[in-house]
Amino acid sequence: MKIKKYSIPESTVIYKPKSPFIARVISTTALTEAESSDEVRNIILDVSGSGIHYIEGQSIGIIPPGERETGKSHKARLYSIASARTGDDGSSTTATICVKRVYNEDNMAEAKVPGIASNYLCDLKPGDSVALIGPNGRRFLLPDDDSTDLILIAVGTGIAPFRAFIRHIFLEKGFWNGRIRLFYGIKNAMEALFLNDQNDDIGQYMTQETFEAFRALSRVHNEDEEKGYVQHKLAEHKQEVWEMICRGNFAVYICGLKGMEEGVDEVFTTLAKQQGLDWPTMKAKFIKKGQWNTEVY
Ligand code: NAP
Repeated sequence: MKIKKYSIPESTVIYKPKSPFIARVISTTALTEAESSDEVRNIILDVSGSGIHYIEGQSIGIIPPGERETGKSHKARLYSIASARTGDDGSSTTATICVKRVYNEDNMAEAKVPGIASNYLCDLKPGDSVALIGPNGRRFLLPDDDSTDLILIAVGTGIAPFRAFIRHIFLEKGFWNGRIRLFYGIKNAMEALFLNDQNDDIGQYMTQETFEAFRALSRVHNEDEEKGYVQHKLAEHKQEVWEMICRGNFAVYICGLKGMEEGVDEVFTTLAKQQGLDWPTMKAKFIKKGQWNTEVY
């Protein structure tokens, strides 16, 4: 039987590409530190009057203005909502997204080409309007039972839905009885979104008894800091993680780059093998039950 997850409010309006909601930018702030090589922005959108009632783990789509070469409108780009249901100001009329400014390689021209949607969004100013669709997503949601252990695994901007989870749990709900373990992979500490000097929204809950967060830094250059990927951090804590899996009352959430899945699977394959178990069979069962949730691109 599937585990029961939070329910999506039936009253929510869901916008489609043919008639998007026109939201306004309330604020746009950097989440990465000034010296960082990447720029990620926290963009708060005003959705008042839309009838949108989203919950944590859902996404919205943004349609960049202009047309493709074919003359058709641009397709919507999906972003996880980084705010909990009442929004960052508690008014229930805003939605927050995290956007990384992306440049794509053009191998023919040996040049970097600015990504259309990400540069459009990162250049927005307060007051600008944005065509928005959604909210979407019915699976990547928190379990109803707050004694469930949560294993959250993210890289880069994949942290967005987990910031929503954490804010909902500790700010809106107030507590979580199960253990929450966040494993987060980034290049360096300056890019640790919501866990750095620029914005410590997640870090401030590290004092909560049930919550612990672990960072893996892939591009550190000093000898004091260990270099690694998120799956290496997970492997360091394999004993507790495996105990949670064996206890059975858990939900795993993986968000970020597609490539991270393989590394995560390797950790669990090794653990399962040690007990004479077959990881693919176990994982298939967890997926079916809604205990294994993946959102990778
Ligand atoms: P990024 O900065 O390029 O990478 C984040 C970290 O992941 C880096 O430390 C990187 O290491 C590491 N990494 C690279 N390959 C890996 C692998 N195979 N296994 C484990 N770690 C790996 O990430 P990003 O540009 O923010 O991308 C995040 C992804 O999340 C994108 O695909 C995005 O579409 C997706 N996403 C975004 C949202 C959103 O709301 N914005 C929501 C859900 C998912 P090195 O680069 O040093 O190798």
